Amino acid sequence: MTQQGKAGSVGFIGIGTMGREMAINLAKAGHQVAAYDVRPGAAQELAAHGIRAAATIADASRGAHAVITMLPDTPDVEAVVYGDGGLLANPPEGKLVIDMSTIAPGAVRRMHADLARAGVAFIDAPVSGGPLGARNAALSIMAGGDAPAFAQAQRFFAGMGTTVTHVGESGAGQTVKLCNQLICGINIQAICEALALGRAAGVDLQQLRRVLLGGSAASWMLDKLGAQMIEGDASAGFRIDLMLKDLRLVAQQAQETNVPLPATALVTSQYLDARAHGEGSNGNQALFRVYDRMSGQVR
Ligand code: NAD
Repeated sequence: MTQQGKAGSVGFIGIGTMGREMAINLAKAGHQVAAYDVRPGAAQELAAHGIRAAATIADASRGAHAVITMLPDTPDVEAVVYGDGGLLANPPEGKLVIDMSTIAPGAVRRMHADLARAGVAFIDAPVSGGPLGARNAALSIMAGGDAPAFAQAQRFFAGMGTTVTHVGESGAGQTVKLCNQLICGINIQAICEALALGRAAGVDLQQLRRVLLGGSAASWMLDKLGAQMIEGDASAGFRIDLMLKDLRLVAQQAQETNVPLPATALVTSQYLDARAHGEGSNGNQALFRVYDRMSGQVR
């Protein structure tokens, strides 16, 4: 077996919508997985998949080749790294931490430097593909960090994703992910506008979606979220709140690098409108409800 394909042991922290599926796939790929989440019961639910529920972060990290984190936002990852009983004080035996959440590139570089001083490698490896991609081990993984650490992480990535790319130095994975999120947000907005226009003209929206999926307007968002918009299914998936977190990170990076992003600014306002109307915990397809209101079609 190649080094890349070798089974190893991994601590997995953050057993939410994405992390749950990713941890299960790591176990399916033959890795020994110890899972930890602050939510009582979340890790225990994975026992049927051969995953051990760890009592603490240190317990998940102990003896592992690597620890993977999949947490909501920057402060959550910082708490797991720097907090009492965190990874800085309790690094895995393999001296490798892989964060797969979407967080601020600047914070990533700080953690990379602080962990490096303690002899621990840190890879930022955010993902695209949503809960379905996570379930099917078909994520696109964009990694930043040192080449030897990336090589060390490959055997774990292989169990979770199909497109795995080392895109540059520490923080580069997050920058690529923010570009991904900007495209997703504007694409969702474009789909809302097309559906609102088609609906007002009395076109069959199911048919409209099917036809567009066969042509150059096709996209993952039209396929997956377009269907949910038409059906009025607002269940999450990828929550409006998490997209607003990503759009905030995009705006911060844009300001720091002096890049105007007018379309991103507009769609951010619409996401804020959605959250102000109680949609924060709903899936991103609930952005269509902003268009329901704007066009007098409240359901
Ligand atoms: P989620 O909220 O469903 O899961 C996060 C989990 O982390 C929760 O179970 C929570 O209890 C746990 N957690 C929070 N703080 C913790 C701590 N200090 N210690 C241990 N556990 C802690 O979020 P998600 O949808 O799985 O997303 C995770 C990350 O992946 C986010 O950064 C998100 O932006 C990104 N992402 C999400 C999707 C998606 O479609 N949901 C897709 C790509 C990327």
